[in-house]
Amino acid sequence: MKIAILTSGGDSAGMNAVVRSIVKAGILKGCEMWVVREGYEGLVQGNTEAATSVNDQVKSDDQQPVLQQEGVHPDKQLLHNLRFGDGELLKDGTTEFVGGRTLKGRYIVRVGWDDVRGWFSQGGTLIGTARSMTFKTIEGRTAAAFNLIKEGIDALVVCGGDGSLTGADVFRREWPDLVRSLKDQSRITDKQAEQHAHLKVVGLVGSIDNDMCLTDLTIGAPTALQRICEAIDNINSTAYSHSRAFVIEVMGRDCGWLALMAGVAGGADFIFIPERPPSAQPWEDEMCAEIGRHRKLNKRKTIVIVAEGAHDLDLNPIRAEYIKDVLTERLGLDTRVTTLGHTQRGGRPCALDRILPTLQGVEAVDALIESTTETPSYMIGLHENKVVRVPLMEAVAMTRSVATAVKEKNFDKALELRGAEFKE
Ligand code: ATP
Repeated sequence: MKIAILTSGGDSAGMNAVVRSIVKAGILKGCEMWVVREGYEGLVQGNTEAATSVNDQVKSDDQQPVLQQEGVHPDKQLLHNLRFGDGELLKDGTTEFVGGRTLKGRYIVRVGWDDVRGWFSQGGTLIGTARSMTFKTIEGRTAAAFNLIKEGIDALVVCGGDGSLTGADVFRREWPDLVRSLKDQSRITDKQAEQHAHLKVVGLVGSIDNDMCLTDLTIGAPTALQRICEAIDNINSTAYSHSRAFVIEVMGRDCGWLALMAGVAGGADFIFIPERPPSAQPWEDEMCAEIGRHRKLNKRKTIVIVAEGAHDLDLNPIRAEYIKDVLTERLGLDTRVTTLGHTQRGGRPCALDRILPTLQGVEAVDALIESTTETPSYMIGLHENKVVRVPLMEAVAMTRSVATAVKEKNFDKALELRGAEFKE
């Protein structure tokens, strides 16, 4: 089987560990492994340059001889240029290229064992990610199907959020029609159409928000939480020194997991999350009463955590700057706002964001190998400490219904959906 992997949507720590795990697990199971650079956009763009000219470009770029490495692993024997982010020389004499630099004209790249060496500890995604409007169109997906068939690829692993996984499922369901249309246009042969009658798809959830249903944890969420905790610890010391209040805005558009867990781990006085707005209106009274009580107990510092998607019972956004004004005016606290922004995303994955993607990557390859036309597209999740396969679209649909419940102000239902995932 020829398997291609792409990362899509917002980046998260652990995406490289996903790619590494899938490449290595695939090679060990006898598959040929490919990566797609720049998410779905790379799939749409495909390869316009022949591999041989890439070889030329790598050589002329580097002005260095291509090194030869012998044996150790059957697939390693294919590899030659060992500097991270450079190219590899394949058996047929062509060089492929991954990571490090952008190479015009080649988005779908064959990779070997050594290409992903050490990737488990790298932040972000080395193969690039993007949001592709073109892939949302039928023309874009037709081009993507053509590009995969051209390289002989018959299975796709997507690591991203709910949008990316929806895209993967749409692509798989549409695949027979796309193949038929390519055949009718004589862009592929009858034999190619027959060989590529179906596309196998599996999804892994790369998201710092931990916002996907039917999995206990998404890849990147533990690292983001760790970053937030470190930031709160740093802020705590200055808050204590000056007896200040800090309002810390964290990511989490529709999902309050990061804010809630950071609040628990960092000792917050008050937390705002989308799924559970403050129970009273106006909420300012509730917050001030709580924080005022803490201050009366001689607490020298105040930490309020607000998820970026937080709102009140009427769905009016609750902004960090406004909370600051309330604390300053009503409680007389010297209050500052810290928006953690993209520092939450970046950096090295924590141990769990290396272990989880590694185990899930192995499961993803097994799921592809065992997949038939009858099986649904799977998402690889985690349930009660076990790596599990769940129907991808069921997970996406459930995740969307949380957002809908919030929009309908049905907060109890939103919380139940978040928590009741595996209850039948
Ligand atoms: P994040 O949680 O970081 O936003 P995401 O995967 O949900 O990640 P999206 O921007 O929603 O991010 O989706 C990423 C890409 O997936 C889109 O740019 C698009 O190319 C593809 N995609 C999303 N939804 C669809 C769809 N319904 N059909 C086809 N492709 C889609």
